[in-house]
Amino acid sequence: GYRSRAAYKLKQLDDLEGLIEGGDTVVDLGAAPGGWLQVAAEKVGPRGRVIGVDLQRIKDLEQTDLAERTETLRGDMTQDKTRKRVLDAADGPVDCVISDMAPNMSGEYSLDQARSLHLARMAFETALEILDTGGNFAVKVFEGPDVDALRADLEDEFQYVRATSPDASRKSSSEIYLIGKGLLTAPVEVGE
Ligand code: SAM
Repeated sequence: GYRSRAAYKLKQLDDLEGLIEGGDTVVDLGAAPGGWLQVAAEKVGPRGRVIGVDLQRIKDLEQTDLAERTETLRGDMTQDKTRKRVLDAADGPVDCVISDMAPNMSGEYSLDQARSLHLARMAFETALEILDTGGNFAVKVFEGPDVDALRADLEDEFQYVRATSPDASRKSSSEIYLIGKGLLTAPVEVGE
């Protein structure tokens, strides 16, 4: 079984948008407890890799074939040093960045929304640093101010952008996923 109900959201997003292919390298941000990690590890297949990052420790996957293609890091994605560790772990451009990061809920929607937006921005910055040309991106964000601005920024960078809320997340209607497919131009690596 999957470690989280969230696993079904990634399945739905991937069915709708075709984010992950066999052989891909995927970076999964906010990956604990590991539901998306399991789904992504299945999708990339034996030639693929998944790098999961979270503030919380992520337990190794039980199935050895999935565990073999998975690597996890513990760290805070709002810190430069964590983003650097992710770049090091990837060791080259990746095919897909997915982020399900969410703040600890304070109960005050405007505060939680602002924090969610900040996490989504961090995921976007990471995606721009690490994705290969043509790469795909999906990020969770709580609906509210400045989500349109983030979406517009995605539109500058990707061939195709849309917002979607998978059925599996309908209950918490405030969350949406922004999808960016086909990164237009990857950053030029220094020394190339
Ligand atoms: N996709 C996961 C799954 O399927 O198991 C569920 C992710 S859960 C909704 C959100 C996660 O974001 C939490 O595990 C939380 O620790 C993580 N998170 C929140 N802020 C973070 C940050 N600054 N850096 C890294 N992870 C963060």
